Amino acid sequence: MRAGRLRVVGLGPGAPEWITTEASEALATATDLVGYGPYLARLTERPGQHRHASDNRQELERARFALELATSGRNVAVVSGGDPGIFAMAAAVMEAIETGESAWRELDIAVVPGITAMQAAAARIGAPLGHDFCAISLSDNLKDWSIIEKRLRLASEADFVIALYNPASKARPERIGDVFVFLRTHKSAATPVIFARAVGRADERLTVTKLGDADPLLADMATLIIIGSSETRPIERPGGAQPFIYTPRGYGARA
Ligand code: SAH
Repeated sequence: MRAGRLRVVGLGPGAPEWITTEASEALATATDLVGYGPYLARLTERPGQHRHASDNRQELERARFALELATSGRNVAVVSGGDPGIFAMAAAVMEAIETGESAWRELDIAVVPGITAMQAAAARIGAPLGHDFCAISLSDNLKDWSIIEKRLRLASEADFVIALYNPASKARPERIGDVFVFLRTHKSAATPVIFARAVGRADERLTVTKLGDADPLLADMATLIIIGSSETRPIERPGGAQPFIYTPRGYGARA
């Protein structure tokens, strides 16, 4: 094993209380922090610790840079929002290792998990992920629309709850609108849809609507969307309180 160390650390969706103790420890003991600028900006500055901020699109380059730093003997923490294993840096680091220098395979490398956006969003609203679900990223450049369409169609057919990450792709802002149009041909217009924006941050906003009314303009880069299954339903509450949305644990066991 070489001297350096690499930790791929999940920061959770935004609230400091959603950072695990293990993640805090990895951040505190790192000599170097590597990550997307806004994620690094969330963290306490520590004297002597180096920060290497980069653009969000440069994930593979950032991973290689972090591996090089660790190879030179540094204790490196690569940070990701949410969980680093979900549409984030852990896979970029693995990809860099798979295609990179053999010395990188000898490094002390570990992934430190975090709370992912869909868990935080679900917790805010009740239990929409209480039964089987899937997660799909609508990110621009990593797959074609034909694959997204196939997955949406089959996920609808299998009646999964669907969590959509990266709904507002910069290059194709119309994509989320296309997703709603497509899903309306496969699912009931009454299906609950949750727009969970910036969960755990000061500008958090939750909107619950129905598939038939879902407005694509509610989705931006900081929004996670949950689309219910045929079983997902609201529990109304008195006094104008936000209804809970939940998916029962047993399929086909309507109360
Ligand atoms: N690794 C991250 C996901 C990265 S992909 C995680 O586990 O959460 C980026 C997408 O995650 C965003 O486009 C958005 O869909 C979602 N996301 C990240 N943080 C969020 C937050 N605080 N609130 C709502 N959605 C969030």
